[in-house]
Amino acid sequence: MYEEALNNNVDVIVRGEGEYTTLELINTMEKYGLDPARLRSIKGLAFKDGDQVIKTPDRPPIRNLDELPPPARHLLPMDKYTLFGKPIKIVHVMASRGCPYGCSFCSTSYFWGRMVRYRSAKAVLMRLRMP
Ligand code: SF4
Repeated sequence: MYEEALNNNVDVIVRGEGEYTTLELINTMEKYGLDPARLRSIKGLAFKDGDQVIKTPDRPPIRNLDELPPPARHLLPMDKYTLFGKPIKIVHVMASRGCPYGCSFCSTSYFWGRMVRYRSAKAVLMRLRMP
């Protein structure tokens, strides 16, 4: 729904798998702001250039999820991440992305495609052991 969002005061949308698109977007914005000519070279974006909605090409999926660094939880107030307000701390650990099926009520196949990627067991264990 990037067109709807862009027509409601949103400057730029990261479409699909966002890690590398967001990284490129932030690096570009730090140097050039929201310069449409620069944004056009970043895959996986949608933004407006004047009244025109621009959708850059899709970014290919990350093949090896292990290359993604762990979340910087030390920068977050982790004591606020609790289970429905109970004094039980929780974190989410990503072990895989995607699903091979296409249930009509589910957005997964639209978002990830009908493709499943897994993190290695070693990488998942590392993230479970993090404070
Ligand atoms: S398409 Fe969605 S609801 Fe269906 S099996 Fe996959 S994740 Fe589950």
